[in-house]
Amino acid sequence: MAKPWRRALLALAAVGLLLAVRLYTSKQDNARGLIHVQRSLMGTVWNIDVMEEGRPEAARQAVEAAYRELERIDGLMSEWKPDSPVSAINQAAGGAAVEAPEELCAILRRSVDYGEKSAGAFDITWRGMGRIWRYDEDFVPPSDQAIEKARANVNYRDLEITGNLVRLKRAGMSIGLGGIAKGYAVDRALGILNRAGFANALVDGGGDIRVSGTKNGTPWQLGIQDPRAERGSLLGRVAMTGGALVTSGDYERFRMVDGVRYHHIINPRTGRPARGTTSVSVMAPSAEQADALATAIFVLGREKGLALAEAENVDAMLIDEQGNTHRTDGFARRFEAAPGKERSQ
Ligand code: ADP
Ligand code: MG
Repeated sequence: MAKPWRRALLALAAVGLLLAVRLYTSKQDNARGLIHVQRSLMGTVWNIDVMEEGRPEAARQAVEAAYRELERIDGLMSEWKPDSPVSAINQAAGGAAVEAPEELCAILRRSVDYGEKSAGAFDITWRGMGRIWRYDEDFVPPSDQAIEKARANVNYRDLEITGNLVRLKRAGMSIGLGGIAKGYAVDRALGILNRAGFANALVDGGGDIRVSGTKNGTPWQLGIQDPRAERGSLLGRVAMTGGALVTSGDYERFRMVDGVRYHHIINPRTGRPARGTTSVSVMAPSAEQADALATAIFVLGREKGLALAEAENVDAMLIDEQGNTHRTDGFARRFEAAPGKERSQ
């Protein structure tokens, strides 16, 4: 064979080999094209899943940026960090107004709106109950008197927001964003992944989940915990390619005393853990909306709660203390019960 031919053939073979290697690796990338990073933050476990789209390094950087955003929001909105702007508002309760960052003022205004929409079931001043419902080792059920006294500190209407000046009217009042900030943080983290060019992603902050796109071409499968079974045992699941699914449950933080469950979702009307419901899941466009509404619906119970879901144009499912399931039509359509877990409406 003439020399130039040999060279051309060799070059062709080399190109072929390169192509084969490329195809092989991209196929491999497809099979393991998902980046999964789990971390503890805001008192819960976070999971971020991103399809790396052939850009694993950039995807990892985007996940890091998302986690940095979560930490930033925690620093801004935590009521447990003594140097946070929320703590500054709480420390000044009953005194002068405190200037707060616009981002915080905005979520406070939205929180007040959720208070209005839910007839006070959602109330970020729940924290005025003080230490009463803190479930540490030495928790003892408080007396009726102590509850009544603390309940006087709870009323979102006594949170004044004028421009960027925020004031709690009375000493003893206190705000806590545990029922809404996680949802907001989920939205922000997903936004960062999407803007970095990763359209297929999932952010899960301890059961507050928002997704976009798909996982390897199939919708994200989101499981809903059975409130009275061991962790990981699912009631069923929902397939989603966009929007949020948030679940509030009485099994997240609680203590049992003499057969009574004391948990972390407080009914502002009674000043006690909300009764009658064990779990509420809400599907909504944003995780913040789903988060706030899940807490509100939990407190309101079946009838008023599902009416609120309808009024807000979101889908919801509520499990009552008897284990019965109540759902909006939209939720019923999209929910796929786990075998043997379907219960009456
Ligand atoms: P989960 O922790 O299961 O996601 P939620 O989103 O319902 O549950 O948040 C419960 C948290 O919300 C509580 O730990 C507390 O910080 C706060 N909270 C409790 N009761 C209320 C209420 N009535 N309105 C607003 N926030 C509340
Ligand atoms: Mg909530």
